[in-house]
Amino acid sequence: MSVHSHSSSSNLIDHPYYAFLYRDLSLSDAIGHRTSEAVSQKALLACCNGSYDPCTLSSSYGFVCGTAQTPVLRASGPCPGHPNHMSALHLELVSINATVKFFHYICYKFVIEDGSITLYNDCKKAQKLINFPGRKFRRFLIDDYDLIAEIHHCTKELQTKVSFQLLWVKGHYTGTKREIQHDLNREAHSQACAALSTSTTLDVSPPSSLVELSCGFSITSRWQATIKQLAHSEMLCSTIFRKTNWSLYTFNKVDWSALGNGMHRLSRLQWFTYCKLLHGILNTNVQNKKFYNQSDLCPCCHNASETFLHVLTCPNKEVTRHRKHQQVILWKTLLAIHTPPQTLASIRNGILMCSTAPTPCNDTLSATSVTTTSMRIGNPHLSTIQEAFQQQSGELGWGNFLCGRISSRWRVAAYDEGLVLNQRLAQCCWAANLVKAVLNYSHSLWTFRCEVLHGHYQSETVAKHLLSLQQQETIGTIVTITKLQYPSLRLGLTLR
Ligand SMILES: [Zn+2]
Repeated sequence: MSVHSHSSSSNLIDHPYYAFLYRDLSLSDAIGHRTSEAVSQKALLACCNGSYDPCTLSSSYGFVCGTAQTPVLRASGPCPGHPNHMSALHLELVSINATVKFFHYICYKFVIEDGSITLYNDCKKAQKLINFPGRKFRRFLIDDYDLIAEIHHCTKELQTKVSFQLLWVKGHYTGTKREIQHDLNREAHSQACAALSTSTTLDVSPPSSLVELSCGFSITSRWQATIKQLAHSEMLCSTIFRKTNWSLYTFNKVDWSALGNGMHRLSRLQWFTYCKLLHGILNTNVQNKKFYNQSDLCPCCHNASETFLHVLTCPNKEVTRHRKHQQVILWKTLLAIHTPPQTLASIRNGILMCSTAPTPCNDTLSATSVTTTSMRIGNPHLSTIQEAFQQQSGELGWGNFLCGRISSRWRVAAYDEGLVLNQRLAQCCWAANLVKAVLNYSHSLWTFRCEVLHGHYQSETVAKHLLSLQQQETIGTIVTITKLQYPSLRLGLTLR
C-alpha cells in the first residue's frame, strides 16, 4: 500500500495508470503552448465527462479545454477498472483525474507561475466527495478513495502554481439560459461517447491505490459491496439451505444474479419489505402466532393458517378479484419487458397454477400436469422452455418464483426463443426485470392483505383503530403504550 508515493514530475506518463489513461492522447507542442498561454491569460475553461456502455461493458472519459473564443484541445481515453466494478461515480472521477493531471503536467512543463483554470463537471456527487471525503478513517471507506486521493494530490500541486476551481455544470442542458459551460459539457460528453467504441478495459490501479485485495482484481469502486458479500454470503447461504432444504445443486439452479439486479435501485423501505418477503419473515399470522400467541387464521378468508404462500393463494372472493387484477398488470409488464410469447405463456401457466393450487405450490407437480401445459404451449422452442418450466415446478417451486427465486433456465429459454438482443446483458436485464415484476406482484398481494386487516383508506384505518381502543376500554384494562405501539397510536389520535 502506498499513498502519494510518486514524486511530482513534469512527465505526463509517470505511472502505468496514466500510460493507460492517456493512451489515445497525442499532444503536439503547439497545443501545449496554446493551452499554457490560455492558462497564463487566466482564460482557460475546461469540462470533463465519463461514459459507459453496459452492452459492451466498455467505459471511457473525455475532456475539452479552450478559451471562451477558441477551442484548444479535445481529448478522450479509456477508463481503467474491472468491468464489473464500474459505476457512474468511478467514470466521473477518472475523467476529473485525467483532466487535472493533464493541467498539472502543462503547468510544470511550461513553468507557469500565474494563471487560472476553471474545470466544469456535471457530477455533484463526485465534487462533493472531492471536497468532503469524510473525516479520519471514514474517508478510506468510500468508493474510489484512491482516485479522490490522486485528484487531491494533483490539485494541491496545481494550486501552488495557478488558481484552480472545480465547478458544477448541469449536464445535457436544454434550457434557454445556455452558457459556454453547457456547450463544453456537450462537447466533453460526445468526446467520451465517441471513445467508447475503441475503448478496452484494463484493471489497473491509480498510483495512490489504497485497496488491493486478492479477489483476482484490484478493487477501486463498489468495494464495500464486495467486502459485504465476502463477509455475509456464507451465513446467508446456510440460512437459505436450512429454510428450503435445498442441496447445493438445487441452490445453484436459482438465478441469483437476476435477483440481485432486480433488487437494485429500490428505496430503502421497499428494499426491506422485499427482503422480508424473500426470506419469508413478513408479519403473517403464522409469524404472529409464533411470537405473540395470536390466532394464525387468515384475516381474509378466516379459513386457513396464514403462511405467505396462503397470502399468494387465498381463495377469498375479494382477494381473488384483486389477484386477478394484479395478474393482468403482471402479464402487461412481462410483455413490456419484451418477454417472448411462449416463454410468457409458460410463466403465466406456472403462476396461474400456483395461484389456484389448494396445496402449497412448492410441491412437486405431477408429470401429467407438466406435459399438459407443455402441450398447450406447443412450440419449436419447447425443449428449453419446458426445461425451465420443469425446473421451476420441480425442485425450485413456483412459490419461490413468486418470491424472486427464478430458475436460471428462464433467461436461456427467453434467449432461445429470440429475446430481442443477442448479448449477455440483454438476458441479464430481462431476467432482472422479470424478478422485479414478480416481486411487485407478490408485494401488491401482501399490501392488499394488510389493507383488509387495517383498512383500505385512512378513514377506515382510523375507524378500526378507534374500535380496537374502545374494545380495550370496555374490558376495563389500562392501556399500556409500548414503544412499538406509540407511533401508530399517536397517528390515530392526530387523525381524530
Ligand atoms: Zn385466506
